[in-house]
Amino acid sequence: WTKLKTTDPEVYGWVVKELERQRNKLELIASENFTSIAVLEAQGSVLTNKYAEGYPARRYYGGCEFVDQIEQLAIDRAKALFKAEHVNVQPHSGSQANMAVYLATLKYGDVVMGMDLAHGGHLTHGSPVNFSGKWYRFVPYGVSPDTETIDYDQLEEQAREVKPRMIVAGASAYPRFIDFERLRSICDEVGALLMVDMAHIAGLVAASFHPNPCPHAHLVTTTTHKTLRGPRGGMILCKEEFARAVDKAVFPGTQGGPLMHVIAAKAVALKEAATPEFVAYQAQVVKNAKSLAQALQEKGYRLVSGGTDNHLLLVDLRNIGLTGREAEIILDQVGITVNKNAIPFDPQKPTVTSGIRLGTPACTSRGMKEEEMQLIAELIDRALRGRSSETTLQKVRKEVLNLCSRFPLYPELSVEE
Ligand code: PLP
Repeated sequence: WTKLKTTDPEVYGWVVKELERQRNKLELIASENFTSIAVLEAQGSVLTNKYAEGYPARRYYGGCEFVDQIEQLAIDRAKALFKAEHVNVQPHSGSQANMAVYLATLKYGDVVMGMDLAHGGHLTHGSPVNFSGKWYRFVPYGVSPDTETIDYDQLEEQAREVKPRMIVAGASAYPRFIDFERLRSICDEVGALLMVDMAHIAGLVAASFHPNPCPHAHLVTTTTHKTLRGPRGGMILCKEEFARAVDKAVFPGTQGGPLMHVIAAKAVALKEAATPEFVAYQAQVVKNAKSLAQALQEKGYRLVSGGTDNHLLLVDLRNIGLTGREAEIILDQVGITVNKNAIPFDPQKPTVTSGIRLGTPACTSRGMKEEEMQLIAELIDRALRGRSSETTLQKVRKEVLNLCSRFPLYPELSVEE
């Protein structure tokens, strides 16, 4: 980064600070991860200079012979990895992938069922503050109060009444497997399309640690930067019958020129995701989540739904006497980054919440295993329960730093002060 340093020392300074933050704090935000250096290199390449509106071999600009090859590689790799009939790798983000699918398949005002944001759904699944909730008539479904998991019988009954044009499945804070096969049969019964937003679990799906939605759903969307460990971006996978409509909805429907540097980084991440090392990584992500869950439960923490099947857990903090917001702040002080998160039927406002969401993808990318998860549970517990003692918090911060230094992040990147 020598040029950046001389051209813009201010930006350079903040980038270095951010690298230090990532290195010296424990990243437990379930939607974040650390990409490989190869992904960073592709994203920081000259491809950012190229306009390529259109699709491989059907562009509105000259000079696309090399970016065509790159985009086709990304498409072919995603099709093979997820066993998808058609793939569009151009969406700039997960939200834009969802917007394009809705534009391709729905009419303004159509009735859609989506998971309630307060029960783990995403903003783009019908929240009234999002375009999805403003343009379509979303009817939310949630989890059962007893099991805190999706009650498919109840969902089926609701779908029979509501008669949606589409059911959107997938979530941002749901720690259990989702039964796509059952959802598809509900959709078939009521004449609805099934869209699955697998943003959170795409890496697990790629490595077969979560059932694959692609055989069942008409359309699947994802982000590429969460468990999949690619660059920040989105992707759509669908049945051939929706291919044309989806491509038109991405470009020219909702976007202009694709970000070819990001698409190149997606291609690299998709290649990495097809390796045995990636499968081993995802196996560890799941083992770590179970280990962290068990250690926290042993220390008296209640987990929503009683545990986890995937990469994340939701901790209900009400019996500890803390809100999610308070816990997020305390943990940040000791160098553990988490996010406050509503739990199902949360009595607190969304800006306060009763819970925190913890995920293992980022720490696992650093090489941490079950032993470290036990230690992390202990550090979380000591910080939260010992929050009124400055000495305790300082001690925990030191141990977090020590743990981070044992698992160096991006040792290849050296920065000049
Ligand atoms: N879908 C789900 C389930 C998500 O969790 C997220 C992001 O957290 C998105 C979509 C949106 O992705 P982006 O932030 O790239 O727009």
